[in-house]
Amino acid sequence: MQPRDLSSHTPYVPGRGTEEVARELGMDPEELTKLSSNENPHGPSPKAISAIEDAAPTVSVYPKSAHTDLTEKLATKWDLDPAQVWVSPGADGSIDYLTRAMLEPGDDILEPAPGFSYYSMSARYHHGDAVTYEVSKADDFEQTADAVLDVYDGERMVYLTTPHNPTGAIFPIEEIRTLAESVDDDTLLVVDEAYAEFADEPSAIELLSEYDNVAVLRTFSKAYGLAGLRVGYACVPEAWADVYARVNTPFAASEVALRAALAALDDEAHVEKTVESAQWSRDYLRAELDVPTWESAGNFVLADVGDATAVSEAAQREGVIVRDCGSFGLPECIRVSCGTEAQTKRAVEVLNRVVSEVPTA
Ligand code: PMP
Repeated sequence: MQPRDLSSHTPYVPGRGTEEVARELGMDPEELTKLSSNENPHGPSPKAISAIEDAAPTVSVYPKSAHTDLTEKLATKWDLDPAQVWVSPGADGSIDYLTRAMLEPGDDILEPAPGFSYYSMSARYHHGDAVTYEVSKADDFEQTADAVLDVYDGERMVYLTTPHNPTGAIFPIEEIRTLAESVDDDTLLVVDEAYAEFADEPSAIELLSEYDNVAVLRTFSKAYGLAGLRVGYACVPEAWADVYARVNTPFAASEVALRAALAALDDEAHVEKTVESAQWSRDYLRAELDVPTWESAGNFVLADVGDATAVSEAAQREGVIVRDCGSFGLPECIRVSCGTEAQTKRAVEVLNRVVSEVPTA
């Protein structure tokens, strides 16, 4: 007995974890600076931690009212109808829900290259496939409607990532608007705003009142520091009222995650501190790294180090874990997440030393 043919399914390559690397290097995880997964270096909000502790005795019951409460709170925040907010296990879960809602077997999605790998993974899980538009290094990864429309051929879903992972480039809202007006009526534009809190840009959620072919992804994993709990959401077109109930996995966002997300929304000061710290860190990385970098609106910076594998492995031996962007199709680049001040300074010091010692490819 074999599963179906999964040979076209590429496994997700996550940033490396501290436990894993510490074990491999025989080091204490405490000695490692992990800047490979764009996590919040300040942890979750203390209010979220209390909510997690308070939720512990209640987890014998399925999460129902917490789900309703979070949906309503998010709908109020964004001035949407609650039916337009699809809470999910991480933004990844929302990608699955949207794919389930959109794709018939054999349908394609259009996604950025380089880009976040889960868009196409989800399409393939749902018996679809993916084609790409280029976010070109030669153009400093500028994201434009034209670059998408040059290759667009009626795909059912078109992913736009702003800020873009792994480059940090924004997709300007006017360009998104142009796309909303240019694509076919039955193409859904999915604007992935996983890193939007770190950018000083208007959210594409405002387009939902004008267009019925735009959905927006958001997450509690980054600015809210809840990556380990897995909670995110999609904001979807108004006309989709009954669709969520037909595509979501029942109770997939846990009681603990929902309670923590509700509490995290009440701690704006924690998000502000996180965003200010990321802005400082990305400015410092760009100013101090001795290699070319790109302007980033996210909580990470892309750097051209010549040989990303050699540099990231050498940095790791010195206790600094960064993301080798080979799996994104940029084998000469690393992505460095914004850390605390101490982590950022350590990363710069180690990376500059390593880059000067590693022969370039
Ligand atoms: N979109 C982008 C662009 C991402 O980088 C990530 C996570 N790395 C996600 C979505 C998914 O985030 P999560 O599932 O943790 O909410």
